[in-house]
Amino acid sequence: MRGWLFPYIRSRVLPGDFHPIVAYLFTEYKCNLDCHYCWAYDNRVKGMTEDVARRSIDWLYDNGAGVLAPMGGEPLLRPQFVHKVISYGAEKGFFVYLPTNGRLLRPEVIDWLADAGVATVNLAVDCYDQKPRLPKALVPIRRHFDYLVKKQYGYILSTSKTMRPTFAMRISRESRSCSTGSSRRIGRDTRW
Ligand code: SF4
Repeated sequence: MRGWLFPYIRSRVLPGDFHPIVAYLFTEYKCNLDCHYCWAYDNRVKGMTEDVARRSIDWLYDNGAGVLAPMGGEPLLRPQFVHKVISYGAEKGFFVYLPTNGRLLRPEVIDWLADAGVATVNLAVDCYDQKPRLPKALVPIRRHFDYLVKKQYGYILSTSKTMRPTFAMRISRESRSCSTGSSRRIGRDTRW
């Protein structure tokens, strides 16, 4: 069962103290942007290997986690890798959401990740249009955002502390593929 409720309930009834619900898997340390406040990226560090990712997901699954988020840096710097992570997690039953700055989230990538089983895309922006040292903005990714809405894929538009409150969080409809669990399987390959 995918979603947040089941792992939460399981965390309350299982014996022991360690029951993670939401797991952030830092698959990538590199980033294609350079936000002035950011501490989270380092372009000298290599990303996670497939073996580590798969073993991490297995371990999280065995310990009851139900929500998985590939993180960075920018996870989409390696789209094929993150596709494998999403596919593997979704096949194990994780609710997978993808935080991204959206720059690499082209329509064909959106469809591809939907096929992999991503449940929600978390588009993180700091401002409507780019500002000095604040490149994470809506205008440069507007075409990608519009495509997400048009296809009714689930998305969350999140803002940081630097964002004006008039541009608050907005949560969409879930995509058809998410709600029915019957996403298309085109190009899907979970053989690592
Ligand atoms: S897009 Fe995200 S990871 Fe990249 S520099 Fe900005 S805040 Fe950091």
